[in-house]
Amino acid sequence: MKVDLLKPIGYCLGVVEAINTSLKVKEKYKDCNIYILGHLVHNENVIDELRKRNIITLEFEKDQIFEILDSFNKNDIVIFTAHGHDEKYDKFLMKKGIKFFDTTCERVKRNMALIKENLSRGVIYIGKKNHPETVAALSISKEIIFYNIEENMDFSKIKYHSPLIVNQTTLSFLEIYQIHQDIKKHIPNSVILDEICSSTRIRQENIKNLKGDFDLILIIGSKESSNTDKLYQIARETHSNIACYKINSKLDLIDLDLKKYHHVVITSGTSTPYQVIEEVKKYLESN
Ligand code: SF4
Repeated sequence: MKVDLLKPIGYCLGVVEAINTSLKVKEKYKDCNIYILGHLVHNENVIDELRKRNIITLEFEKDQIFEILDSFNKNDIVIFTAHGHDEKYDKFLMKKGIKFFDTTCERVKRNMALIKENLSRGVIYIGKKNHPETVAALSISKEIIFYNIEENMDFSKIKYHSPLIVNQTTLSFLEIYQIHQDIKKHIPNSVILDEICSSTRIRQENIKNLKGDFDLILIIGSKESSNTDKLYQIARETHSNIACYKINSKLDLIDLDLKKYHHVVITSGTSTPYQVIEEVKKYLESN
């Protein structure tokens, strides 16, 4: 089978930075317990690799967070994830004298800064409900209006004349275009910023513009990963006559009848390790 990798593929810069920071913290504070509050990035392989290096991911419900923060002691070090977090957690840890490190992607930080600067004019944030980046953005102020991508917006409650419109960085560029049209129709003076990050956008454009004699598309990434999910959504929307699967690793290929296909194109979410992509590629080439 012919196998093409659609580049860029594998980690984006934000994910590389988050992983490197975590490894450096462990290296510097060898004798401390290192805890990540939630998934550093949305990929189980990354979480497992960190665990092997004694960097422990803590899983919890949102309402348990302060109980967890309160349980840390002086020999513990906390790492915040790449998706951003509520700044109240920083203040809480500072008061307790617990050391912490923030791996929030620069692109997400920029988005957060824009929200803070524009609160007085009104801000509408477009995102996926309960995604950590959305949760972090909405924690900035109760005044932010949330546009949930999975529901219709009730515009009758919005009183702002020219609010700033920002969004989660890993949404689909096709989906956000439609949402922007919807907002413009209801709030013509709104100031619309497209905050999809370039790592996400380039992969989405590449999959949309894909041409050739391929008969299979594989998107590799975790089911938790928003940008993987959006790549899959765009691939299905724009190549509806081609078989397309979202997989986490080569194990997900075992039940597929690969003999039917002669040319596969592979892309990945931004938190998928290159090693996983290579394993899938080798497996396909041997079939
Ligand atoms: S996908 Fe974009 S926003 Fe998310 S970590 Fe990567 S570069 Fe940052």
